[in-house]
Amino acid sequence: MKKISSPHFNERKTPVDMLVLHSTAHNAAGAVQSLLNNEVSAHYVIDLDGEVYSLVDEDKRAWHAGVASWRNINTDLNSRSVGIEVCNLSLGQTPYGEKQISRLVRLCRKLIRSYHIRPEMIVAHSDIAPTRKPDPGIAFPWQYLAQKGIGLWYKPQNAQKIKEASVPELLKTIGYNTDTPETTIASAYAFRRRFLPEEVEIIEDVKQLVDNVYPQNCTRLLQGEKFINTLKAVAYAYLNASKKP
Ligand SMILES: [Zn+2]
Repeated sequence: MKKISSPHFNERKTPVDMLVLHSTAHNAAGAVQSLLNNEVSAHYVIDLDGEVYSLVDEDKRAWHAGVASWRNINTDLNSRSVGIEVCNLSLGQTPYGEKQISRLVRLCRKLIRSYHIRPEMIVAHSDIAPTRKPDPGIAFPWQYLAQKGIGLWYKPQNAQKIKEASVPELLKTIGYNTDTPETTIASAYAFRRRFLPEEVEIIEDVKQLVDNVYPQNCTRLLQGEKFINTLKAVAYAYLNASKKP
């Protein structure tokens, strides 16, 4: 692990109970430069070749989440989270490297152990800021990470164990913000990015991706049998996980 100290941090106001995973469309040198030049930061950056850089000490509050919401927590997610940036030149539209992911697994497992982070509190930046952020993108290996004990995945057959509920209710059960119709659409798209990535269009042009985080006014994003069933199966996984001590 290489250390490059960022000046962009302050004191935490809450103990760590959350992990926010990001991607950056640079290699680590570019990402570090951009993080140092702008008033943003993350605790860790994982380079294209898997090298890990530490920028902010874990006991300090890094500035990576921005305006965000998850499981009814609407303020200061930076205070309670560790932020990891994984480099991917297409911002997660094309596959991550094997070495990057094995280093990420090791780092996440260590953080989960150190801070007893619950699986339902391991999120994508797009999950907590669905109207603003597309990262870490459709190529991020959430299913593989869940197999390694990092975050949650679902069993399709569990959809039938969820009684009828509306799409906003199901999204909210998982943790997504559904405060307005527009946020609900953005959240549904963030959900698709994470849990139905094969159905989301690949946009390799980073600028286009960042400028069009979700298709606006697109109520069809709240429909579809596969979407609803997956939503139910994921909601079941989150309900089940949050019942565990
Ligand atoms: Zn991000």
